[in-house]
Amino acid sequence: FLPHLVASLEQVEQTYVMVKPDGVQRGLVGEIISRFERKGFKLTGLKLFQCPKELAEEHYKDLKAKAFYPSLIDYITSGPVVCMAWEGVGVVASARKLIGSTDPLQAEPGTIRGDLAVQTGRNVIHGSDSPENGKRETALWFKEGELCEWTPVQAPWLRE
Ligand code: GDP
Ligand code: MG
Repeated sequence: FLPHLVASLEQVEQTYVMVKPDGVQRGLVGEIISRFERKGFKLTGLKLFQCPKELAEEHYKDLKAKAFYPSLIDYITSGPVVCMAWEGVGVVASARKLIGSTDPLQAEPGTIRGDLAVQTGRNVIHGSDSPENGKRETALWFKEGELCEWTPVQAPWLRE
């Protein structure tokens, strides 16, 4: 197999990342965006947004049966969130690593939750868990004209 063919099979993924209301209230927006920016992924969408209840319910529909679901919906709609769309090869799994485990007490130091949070119910950030959900959630939270197609000047310095 020719190496350039293997490289061309690498899929550019999208992921949806969101600073939750506690992250906004605690002034962590810049810190969190900065971690993704420095890593080298491409930002394609960014906004401060007050999430309506219906959208929170759609986003977390798979968790509807959980006991914490009502408090989760209250939490996500309790104040503005920062919505981000990030793009790149491997971005979905890498974003989850930068974010850390769901329970901040189990999250490794160096991760966002490991460094900046202490409880699952206030874990400051969301990240899509699969490329499929990355696409689905990006489309759910952003309207078409809100995403930007652009080429960062640093692209050739990030990937050979
Ligand atoms: P994530 O993908 O790491 O965000 O975790 P999940 O998809 O399992 O859960 C979504 C979100 O629901 C989490 O980030 C938490 O905000 C919340 N959540 C999950 N489990 C619990 C729990 O046991 N208690 C509470 N209060 N919230 C939870
Ligand atoms: Mg999840």
